[in-house]
Amino acid sequence: MDYLALHQQYNEEHLFGRYISLLHTERLILKHQPEIIGKSVLGKPIFKLQFGTGKTKILMWSQMHGNEGTTTKALFDFINYLHSNTKESNLLLDNFTFCLLPMLNPDGAELYTRENANGIDLNRDAQNLSQPESVALRQTFENFQPDYCYNLHDQRTIYGAGDSGHSATVSFLAPAFNQNRDINEVRIKAMNVIVAMNHTLQQFIPNQVGRFDDSFNLNCVGDTFQYLNVPTVLFEAGHFANDYEREITRKYIFISLVSGIRFLNENDIVRSEITDYLKISQNKVVFYDFVYKNVKINYDSTEKIINFAAQFKEVLNKGKITFEAEIAQIDNLENYFGHVEIDAKGEIYNDEEGNFPILEKKANFYLGKNIRIVNGAQLS
Ligand SMILES: [Zn+2]
Repeated sequence: MDYLALHQQYNEEHLFGRYISLLHTERLILKHQPEIIGKSVLGKPIFKLQFGTGKTKILMWSQMHGNEGTTTKALFDFINYLHSNTKESNLLLDNFTFCLLPMLNPDGAELYTRENANGIDLNRDAQNLSQPESVALRQTFENFQPDYCYNLHDQRTIYGAGDSGHSATVSFLAPAFNQNRDINEVRIKAMNVIVAMNHTLQQFIPNQVGRFDDSFNLNCVGDTFQYLNVPTVLFEAGHFANDYEREITRKYIFISLVSGIRFLNENDIVRSEITDYLKISQNKVVFYDFVYKNVKINYDSTEKIINFAAQFKEVLNKGKITFEAEIAQIDNLENYFGHVEIDAKGEIYNDEEGNFPILEKKANFYLGKNIRIVNGAQLS
């Protein structure tokens, strides 16, 4: 199976880039007779799509965090694939029932915020159920009674797979169901799906798959559903080199979705892949977008050599996300990498105001006379 060609074929071209709101997805949703399962704080519809008639029921929700649209793009690619009317897609629709909530937090999506319109992180509201979006998800979970849950997210560019300098392009987690982080049959089922997806992804992005931290928090939806005995898989779409629009990562999420479902379709024998699951590198905070090395500064009339880092802030601006690099860390970068690293070779830092970087200021400066940095990057 040529996964890359498969994605190219079913890539939903109406969705692109980082800003994905109901404005972008609603037309695609309405093609498929959606059901409205609730309203957001600001009264926007929360849509549910259901496909297939099979025995194994899979509930997937995306954009519970409004500014995390990569998995939503991949989900629509997956929906196109399910509707391809091929032998395989028809087989999947016979064997599975898919219940899909493409955008759980439409208010946050529009505002490009993680939280909903009340400023609540829906992924910390699984016990309180204080928000209409949380209630809609929980009711769907209870009515549908899924065999598996997929909790679909984006993660920031700061994450690496392990600490060897590989970006975590896709990370997974089989959440814990108790404080002890015990492993039971339910969790093993989630781990098995992850191992299968990881196996496929390693062909394309070796060493760029991470295993998310499994600290237990029952306020998180995944932990709650796992606790309620439904195998739950957390997906985190992360960074691939230079892919700030997350169009490459989107492809790998699609490949994960397809390969995971194929695994479930082909394997009903009970087995355990705990060892292979634990072999997946841990998701770790080890990256900045830019690291500048061996930079001379002059502070208080004293010269010294430092390293420092800049990080993009994502800003919604007239319907587009702009990436604005700010100075984020000065020294203490021993265990960190830059997605882009620039060696100043002892040249002196200078900007309009002086000869040393200041935290949270825009990353526009010179290194010596010849290296000009604009919005974090070197102008050639
Ligand atoms: Zn998230």
